[in-house]
Amino acid sequence: MLYLCRMKLTLKIKLLPDISQRELLIETIKEANNACNCISNIAWQHQVFNQFKLHRECYYYIKSISKLSAQMIVRCISKVSDSYKIDKKVKREFRLLGGITYDNRILTYKPNDMVSIWTIEGRTKMPFVCHNRNYLPYIKGEADLVFKNDKFYLFQTVEVPEEDIKNIEEFIGVDLGLVSIATLSNGKEFNSKELQNYREKRQKVRSSLQSKCTKNAKRVLKRLSGRERTHGTIINHSISKQIVKLAKSEGKGIAIEDLTGIRFSANKKGKKFRTRVGKWSFDQLRQFLAYKCLLNGVKLICVPPAYTSKTCNCCFHIGNRRGKKFTCSNCNSVFDADVNAAKNIALLGMSINHPEKPSMLYSVMHYA
Ligand SMILES: [Zn+2]
Repeated sequence: MLYLCRMKLTLKIKLLPDISQRELLIETIKEANNACNCISNIAWQHQVFNQFKLHRECYYYIKSISKLSAQMIVRCISKVSDSYKIDKKVKREFRLLGGITYDNRILTYKPNDMVSIWTIEGRTKMPFVCHNRNYLPYIKGEADLVFKNDKFYLFQTVEVPEEDIKNIEEFIGVDLGLVSIATLSNGKEFNSKELQNYREKRQKVRSSLQSKCTKNAKRVLKRLSGRERTHGTIINHSISKQIVKLAKSEGKGIAIEDLTGIRFSANKKGKKFRTRVGKWSFDQLRQFLAYKCLLNGVKLICVPPAYTSKTCNCCFHIGNRRGKKFTCSNCNSVFDADVNAAKNIALLGMSINHPEKPSMLYSVMHYA
């Protein structure tokens, strides 16, 4: 069977305009948002929200009062019409420097990382940087031009064909959370002591700032939380990349737990533990794993989390977990608790992948 699936991703592209281009981009964004507010007024007055009807109602008027090109007006009408899709109870207003939408008739990518973008004074060419260059050939559809923190970004839609996912037998189990961020069934751990220390230190800074409650303290707090997110995002990217690379090179799939239980078990361990693990973005790590798996043709299976940390991966009896150690009173095995859980997750992945050959563990979980 061969069918090609396509996956939509959003590519973040940073524009590098010179000083005069910067001004042009800002003026273009303002002009477009002004037009959107005009269009919204007309839509609201006439109670017309359908894109085609709204076009008939306002196109020539907007053309006569603004510097926008025909295609940019079409995009603005579409944006206003879309904004009323949620509800038609409140008149929409647009921020003067809010993002505006481009399509391939007003934005084109050129060789050598250059982009040709429409402005109120016609098209202009400028360089860009993009950290995911391998997605550039898949650019398709619309892009949002966003002015943020004094910089210009294009959030460009790309459609990436998913590689054909092969039939595989074996899985790498990934145990998330608790002690390490991720532990694999082959024993490899992704630990981030450095990150933990960093977070604990931040927590102290944050507590002292929170007690101050001044405007400046609030500003610093906001900046800190942004910085931590970026730091965590880099680590999640790195971990997911390494796991997917390993699975691909060994021709295995990846099995991962359903994560709903993580925060709950973190709560039991007290405040210090929460600081260390509870705030980690496992959802993000899972998302990164999922899309990197898709892009690399690696199969990803989610398994139910119950029993994976309580069951012995050798004899499938319920054992005891104490801290880092798992001991089985049936076969007297002693394992690293996270590795034991990861091995169970791998076995479960295999059972779910081949339901006609269920493992013992799968039966235990189903009938327990
Ligand atoms: Zn055992």
